[in-house]
Order: sequence, then C-alpha cells, then structure tokens
Amino acid sequence: MSNKATTVFLFMSLSLLLVVTLEAFHFEQQTISSMHDSPVALSPQEKLERVKKNHPLLSIYDLAYQQPTQALEQLTQWQSQQLHASTTVEQIFTLWIQRAAAKNQPETIKEIDKELRALAQTHDIHWLNAKLDVEQAYRKIKQGTYAQGIQLVTDAISYAEAIRAEFLLLEAYNTAGILYNANNQLKQAQKYFMKGAELGQKYPNNEYNARFNNNLGLLYVHSEQWPRAIEYLKKAEAIYARSQFAQPESLLIILMNQSYVYNQLGEVTLSREAYEKGLQYVREDTPAYYKIVQIKSLARLQLLEGSAQQASQTAQTCINTDAIDRFPKQKGICQLEYALAMSELGHIERAHEAIVESIGTFVAIEHQRWLIKSHLILGDILEKQGEYEQALNVYKNYHAQERDQILAEIHLLKTAFEVEEIERERDLLDVQNDLKELEKGISEQRLRVLYTWLAIVAVIALWVVRRWKKEKKRSQHLHDLSYKDALTRVGNRRLYHRELEHPTLLDANLNYRVTLIDLDWFKSVNDNYGHEVGDAVLTETASRLKAKLTDKELIVRWGGEEFLLLLEANNDYQVRAQSLVDAINSKPYSLKELELNVSISLGASHPASLAALKRSQHAFQVADECLYQAKDQGRNQRVMPEEL
Ligand code: GH3
Ligand code: MG
Ligand code: MG
Repeated sequence: MSNKATTVFLFMSLSLLLVVTLEAFHFEQQTISSMHDSPVALSPQEKLERVKKNHPLLSIYDLAYQQPTQALEQLTQWQSQQLHASTTVEQIFTLWIQRAAAKNQPETIKEIDKELRALAQTHDIHWLNAKLDVEQAYRKIKQGTYAQGIQLVTDAISYAEAIRAEFLLLEAYNTAGILYNANNQLKQAQKYFMKGAELGQKYPNNEYNARFNNNLGLLYVHSEQWPRAIEYLKKAEAIYARSQFAQPESLLIILMNQSYVYNQLGEVTLSREAYEKGLQYVREDTPAYYKIVQIKSLARLQLLEGSAQQASQTAQTCINTDAIDRFPKQKGICQLEYALAMSELGHIERAHEAIVESIGTFVAIEHQRWLIKSHLILGDILEKQGEYEQALNVYKNYHAQERDQILAEIHLLKTAFEVEEIERERDLLDVQNDLKELEKGISEQRLRVLYTWLAIVAVIALWVVRRWKKEKKRSQHLHDLSYKDALTRVGNRRLYHRELEHPTLLDANLNYRVTLIDLDWFKSVNDNYGHEVGDAVLTETASRLKAKLTDKELIVRWGGEEFLLLLEANNDYQVRAQSLVDAINSKPYSLKELELNVSISLGASHPASLAALKRSQHAFQVADECLYQAKDQGRNQRVMPEEL
C-alpha cells in the first residue's frame, strides 16, 4: 500500500472507531439516566439556599425530625428576627418544620397540610401541589383506596418527570410502587421501584434508596422468591445503617421483613436474629402500627420455633392492641396466626373460630392474597376436624365455579396458586433480565472498544519508543562521527578542544600535563607490512594507552601516528608516563600471524590548568620539545620538562 492509501485507511478506521466509542458510551447514558435534556428542577432546599446561603431553616428542618421541641424553639427565634415578610419557600419550610415536629399529632398535621395546600393554590405553586398529591396518595394506602391513590400519584409523576423535579420523584416512585403492590399489580409496582432505585443512584444518601430496596425485597416476598427477597432486604438494611436520617421505624420494618423471609426459608436461627435486631428499634414512642408489626412478627417466629403456646398468647396481644382496628390487614394476619397456633395445640374448634374471623377481616378489605391463604388454612383445619365435605364447601364458596372438586384438589389448587405466582414472578424476572441483558451488551461493547483503544495506544507507544531509540542511536552516531577518531575509536582533536571549552569528563579543578606520544619508526611498519598492519598497530596502541587512563583523563589521536593525552599532574606522573612506554614495548603486538615489537616516545609538559591550556600553546610546545628530545635520545622512552 502506498503511504497515502495507508494514511486514508488509518484515518477512516479511526473515525469509525470514534463513532463506535461515542455510541457505546452515550447509549447507556441515554437509557440509564433517562432521555431528558431539560435541566433538573431546583429542589425546595436549593430554592431556600437561593434566598440565603446556608439558610437557618435548613438545619432547623433537619433537626425537626430528631428533636422537635428544640427545632420549634429555633423556629420561633428565627421568626422573631425576621424584619421582612417571609418568602413563599420560607413559608413552606416553616410549615414543614411544624409538621415534622408534630410527628404523633395527626390532627395538627392535617391542619398544616391544609395550610400548605392553600399556599400552593394562592401562589400557584405546581410542585407543591404535586408533592401534596403524592403525600395524599400515600395516605390512600392505609385507607385502602388504592385506585384513587394511583391516579393521584401517577398524575404527579407525569408532572414531575416533565419538569424533572427529581426531589419529588424519589418519593413519588416509592408511593406509586407501594400503591400498585397493594393493588396487586406487581409488575407496575416493580416498574416504579426499579425507576426509583435507578434515580436513587444519583442521590446515594437519600433514604428512599433503602425503601426501594426494601420494597423490591417485599415484591419478591409476595412472589415467594426468598433468596432474592433477602438480598434486597439486606441491601436496604445496609443503606439505612449508613444513613444519618434513618428513622428507627424503617429499620424495624426491614428487619421484621427479613425475619419473615427467613421464617419462610425455615431458617429458625436467622429469623430469630433478624427479629431481635429489629426489636432494638422499638421504643416508648414507636407508633402503634410498627408495634403491631413487631408483635405479629414475634407470633410468627414463635410458631416457627414450635412454641405454639407462646405464639397464641402473642397473637392475642396483637389482636387486643388498642389501635388494631385502624390496621385491618395486620389484625387479619394476627387472627390467622392465632388460628395456626390453636391448630398446632390441638384446639381445633378455637382454631376454626379464629380463621373464620380472619377471613371476615380480609373480606372487609378485599385482600385477595390473604383471602387465599386464610381459606387454605380453613380447609386444613376442617380437614383436621374430619369435615371433609365442609372443607370442600368452604373451598366452593371461595371458588364457586369449581363445583366438582374433591378435597385433594384443594391442594392441587394450592399448587395452581403457586404456579400463578411463579408466572407473575417470571414476568418480573423478564423485565429484569431484559435490562440485565441490555446492560451486559453495553458493557461488553464498551470493553471491546476499550481493548481496541488500548491496542492502538500500545502500537503507538511501541512506535514512539522505537523511534526514540533509533533517534538516540543516530545522534550517538553523529556524536561519534564528530568527536571520535574513526580508526582507533579514541577521541579526536575536536574532542580535545571541546573538553577544554566545556569539560564533561575532565575536571576543571585539576591540573594536567600534556603528554605527546609518537610511534617510533612507524613509517617502516607501513613499508614492511603494509598500510593495513600499520592501521592495526595504531588501533592496538590506542587501546593499550587508553587502558592506562583514569576516567578523568583524556586521550585523542592528534594526527597520523601521534596521540595527545591529558594526564593528571600527580606526584606519580613520572612513573605513570614510564608505564605507558612500557605498556607498548614490554609485550609484542600479535597481529594475525605477525608478532611485532612496537615502541613509542613520550614528551610531557609542566602541570597546567585547563584554563591555561585553553589560553596558551606553551604546555603543548614544551611537550613537543620533550618528545623531540626523547626521539633524539634513542626513542622508546619518556622525557620530562624537568629533564630538559
Ligand atoms: P619517527 O620514529 O621519527 O617518528 O619515525 P616515523 O617513521 O614514525 O616517522 P615519520 O613521520 O617519518 O612517518 C610517519 C608515518 O606514519 C608516515 C605515514 O605514512 C604514516 N601514517 C600516518 N597516518 C597513518 C595512518 O593512518 N595509517 C597508516 N598505516 N600509516 C599512517
Ligand atoms: Mg613516528
Ligand atoms: Mg610523527
């Protein structure tokens, strides 16, 4: 391929990769954080911050949940300091603080809610209206008017999603999920809890995160997927444990739910453990509902532990609680537990009475799931009483269209219920699996893209390193060319001058003696053995001399068969100069088949600093004179200036 074609090809491949990368990373953003472009609406807290940085009402509001009296005092104090009329958002927070402080006073709360609603209406505050709607929808859960609640909350969600009021959505999704769940629309419930859990990732410290996990856990409780249920309930507990605003009631509920799941799994010890843990959160002022849940859980646990006697007493306590009539579903469950305990104890008559009462309670609130459970227990009890026909009748009353079933078919039907629940569960799982598959696909694609980029980076890095090495080699080569003698591989004159200018290997603080060395009778070597042998002699001489130097000393080929050395001007200079002469002459040169005796003459200068050498030729001339003297005196020797 030509260079141009390669470039075009590379460019196109890179562009394609870039597109794939953008798609892979953009895609998830779109699906996970929903496809809104509009900015997130300001939360009331942020609105308050806009009125005044670190607005005092914010901390008072937080305080209101933990220490209501103190919060109200601070609120009064703040109000007395106000010179101007409060802004609307300040008015809202004032009411919220009062409402939070009135935790256990339903009448006061009602009044405050009315005031909030009026405020929203007069000032046309849509988000406040929506928030009040969500809160109202939540109350429908306890009142059992689920359809109304669903209408309210889904309208509020549409509005909040449109303006991206995320501060509202967490609460709204949770309420919607609970309402749908109560209304037996499990798939819808799951959808909203999932939405909530997804949005919650953006607000990791929000307490709703724990609720979503708890509620997803509960969904799996309904579909009897115990391991999955416990997984979510544990998550919920962990999130609450981290949260500073966790209400003890919430932890109580989560742990009681865990206890229930372990109960269903037959895990006696774990069920007891979760219960005991939850029990720690029951206090003097715990609202009645939560106390009832705790008692109900205990009765259930005692049944599991085989203490039917105790279980019956606990269930009685539950049924006799003052507030029980406000919570009919809990009452029905306690009646059912009482029936089970009585049946265990062999008091079949009383068991019968209790289960009939329980059925009555569930009929009143039209609770399908618990109706099925209670009827199946009734069937069992009748069977124990030997009232097979009546058992069948009970069943018929419940499912009139299935007239001709025999008693055994009650159990068949139980299986059918399970199948139905499993199918529901499968629906839930489908949604979840789709989502998982999608996420898996995305992460796989991302991984591929990432590897491709890594490969490209690796190739480029390799190329750069190679390039760099090559460049380094080339510059070394150039350096050698300009400062080294090509034949002998010692320095050349240029190196000598450079070292005098900028010493890198020589030491500017030392004194040196210029040492000139000339081979003796070299012309005859050339003449007798040829130029090549002459060259070899020069090379060998250079390397023998070089071996004698320290690394602060210099040898250069001065020209022809002459070398210039700068040797440190020490006391032992004379000895070293002699050793150079000996290094050449004491051992013949072995050159191919040739044994050659070679000698040199050496002339030295006085000690001189590098600066002096740079400045004047004097030292060089002295050395040259000494060299001449050495030649003159018969060669193969050194001459010092002191000897001149
Ligand atoms: P003296 O002892 O007086 O120094 O005698 P000499 O023969 O060594 O001196 P002369 O100056 O007469 O000869 C130097 C010779 O060195 C002349 C030249 O051909 C030879 N020569 C110079 N450069 C090189 C070289 O690079 N390679 C070879 N083989 N010979 C060289
Ligand atoms: Mg010579
Ligand atoms: Mg010469």
